[in-house]
Amino acid sequence: MLSSPIEYLKGVGPLRGDLLKKELQIFTFDDLLHHFPHRHIDKTKVSKINMINYQTDFIQVTGILQQFEIIGEKRAKRLVAYLRDDTGALELTWFQGISWVQKNLVPGQKYLVFGRTGFFNGRPQMVHPEIEPFVLAKADGKDYLEPVYPATEKLKARGLNGRQLAKLTFQLFSQIKPTDIPENIPEDIFKKLKLMNRYEAFSNLHFPVSQEAYQLALRRLKFEEFFIAQIRLNLVRLQRHHSSRGVVFEKVGELFNDFYNHHLPFELTGAQKRVIREIRTDTGRGHQMNRLLQGDVGSGKTIVALLSMLLAADNGYQSCMMAPTEILAQQHYNGLKELLKNMPVEIALLTGSIKGKERKRILSGLLDDTIHFVVGTHAVIEDVVQFKNLGLVIVDEQHRFGVAQRARLWEKATVPPHVLVMTATPIPRTLAMTAYGDLDYSVMDELPPGRQPITTVHRNEMARASVMEFVRTEINKGRQAYFIYPLIEESEKLSYEDLKQGYEQVKSFFPEPAYRISMVHGRQSAEEKETNMQRFVQHDTHIMVSTTVIEVGVNVPNATVMVIESAEKFGLSQLHQLRGRVGRGSEKSFCILLTGSKVSKDAKERINTMCATNDGFKIAEKDLELRGPGDIEGTRQSGELNFKVASIVNDKDLLELAKTTAEQCCEEDPTLDMAKNLLLKNYLRSQKGKNAWSRIS
Ligand code: ADP
Ligand code: MG
Repeated sequence: MLSSPIEYLKGVGPLRGDLLKKELQIFTFDDLLHHFPHRHIDKTKVSKINMINYQTDFIQVTGILQQFEIIGEKRAKRLVAYLRDDTGALELTWFQGISWVQKNLVPGQKYLVFGRTGFFNGRPQMVHPEIEPFVLAKADGKDYLEPVYPATEKLKARGLNGRQLAKLTFQLFSQIKPTDIPENIPEDIFKKLKLMNRYEAFSNLHFPVSQEAYQLALRRLKFEEFFIAQIRLNLVRLQRHHSSRGVVFEKVGELFNDFYNHHLPFELTGAQKRVIREIRTDTGRGHQMNRLLQGDVGSGKTIVALLSMLLAADNGYQSCMMAPTEILAQQHYNGLKELLKNMPVEIALLTGSIKGKERKRILSGLLDDTIHFVVGTHAVIEDVVQFKNLGLVIVDEQHRFGVAQRARLWEKATVPPHVLVMTATPIPRTLAMTAYGDLDYSVMDELPPGRQPITTVHRNEMARASVMEFVRTEINKGRQAYFIYPLIEESEKLSYEDLKQGYEQVKSFFPEPAYRISMVHGRQSAEEKETNMQRFVQHDTHIMVSTTVIEVGVNVPNATVMVIESAEKFGLSQLHQLRGRVGRGSEKSFCILLTGSKVSKDAKERINTMCATNDGFKIAEKDLELRGPGDIEGTRQSGELNFKVASIVNDKDLLELAKTTAEQCCEEDPTLDMAKNLLLKNYLRSQKGKNAWSRIS
């Protein structure tokens, strides 16, 4: 029934059917059922026209329509009508669909009008209001909530406005039966959570019998959206756990223990210990590990990686660690080599710039297992390297590591290696739950003890001279500084010129030869970037002037100041990533956000957030709030995020509830064969093509 083409609905027909398809992608009865109203009109809530003031946003009024007239020519042509109640007059204006509006307005009739108010020549005005003849609220005394649906201007002009759509939906409900919208939540859950049943919920979301019923319907459908998504993610994850094959790291051996007891330079944090336990469990079960490790900048992910690699080595397996850039690979290599200096394991660095004999030596060492660990850039390792027995792959600073890339690594071993993806871009828990719910997922939410928090301040450009003085005192103490300029995406040229100007400006404050400056930007070749970066790393230069290219991972503990120019142009998580480049040593560090005096409200909020906290997870929450889930950097564009009624920002509690409920359900019955889960299984099957169910059954 619900799959019937929309033109078969009484009152639609082929013409309107085409319009609905083109304008709103409504092809079937079911699509119309899922076209939810964006608001309901409560006809009992009507304001008086003289209550409209400059603060008024949307308002609903009634009044008698006075005369109307058409003014202006061509593009300025508009229809203006006047609505009058016993307190004043309101101007109603249409720029489009004039002839249609004109035909339908009857002077002298009473109308109900809803819209956003504005002022024109000092008089209150409403442009393109929703308007319909006023009918008294239902006599039975109940709140009468009438749905209004999103519609396009084109639809409105063809007589299918938000309220006409309501008529069609009403028609739909008179043609379908409750059994057309069967329950899909298992009975025990349904009862326990006291949910409204599915048919009732749809019915009340469109045509609520009361405010309370509307709220219950909303809750039910939000829960359903989250629950179904979580069930799918859990099934995919469990499926992988059950059917994937993985190498077994069965023992914790000598290498791990020796390092842990004698060479570990510090006590691990609780979070680090927990994650290592999780990795141990994962890699010991005979199934492939596919784990995402999220930890704020500086939370100490490298040592977790190293301990995992030692675990692999104890069981006779090689490991590789991949970084997005040469500099990062180099830094990891240096750091790991230092940590491993008294250990009987061989580690090698493999990047594009390692050539000739050294390259040959490494490649053959990996093939005959005389080299146990290799650190390198993604491209290099993915393309050319053959291993004797690769058991563990660690991907640093990248959570977009895709399925295709993983598959390429699998080809390097008969049984796929375990994969640990590490990322320092915190994403909020709710987002992680929906975007990565099919992966295993660890969080390191604890920083090693004794870190000095970075002091972040906001300064106006006018205070530049004193900011420069401050930077000078730091440099004179022997420290280094970053100056960061925004990358203007639309114009590489503009960014470059900004940066050049900035460079000159910095240079005028810090003249040679007393001060030396490096510059890194997108127009340089990889080699140039590398050289300039290396000079800064080696403290040849005091100052690094750069666009955002240094964002990820670079470690220069001696750098204690970061000045971010035009800070209003940066996103929150980007600012946080950048700031993470300072505060890496034992000295107190500073981040100075420079802006002009005109800053938008959102930018102001981003800057305030940065000044208020160093906690990446808090910042990520705020980012999600400000931008919404679609735009969060680094998350996959996952269909699982396209919720129609639920919101991962506003409905966190329901999401948590749906997650735990779905987990219990899948753990108890991973194939959904129990009688009580039959409705759910049928529902998932009926949605096939839209989800992972086909892969499961
Ligand atoms: P990230 O998670 O950003 O990759 P790193 O692994 O680079 O962090 O660690 C940042 C710094 O913290 C390094 O200098 C590392 O040696 C140090 N560190 C890591 N874990 C601890 C710990 N448990 N106690 C003290 N210092 C630690
Ligand atoms: Mg790191």
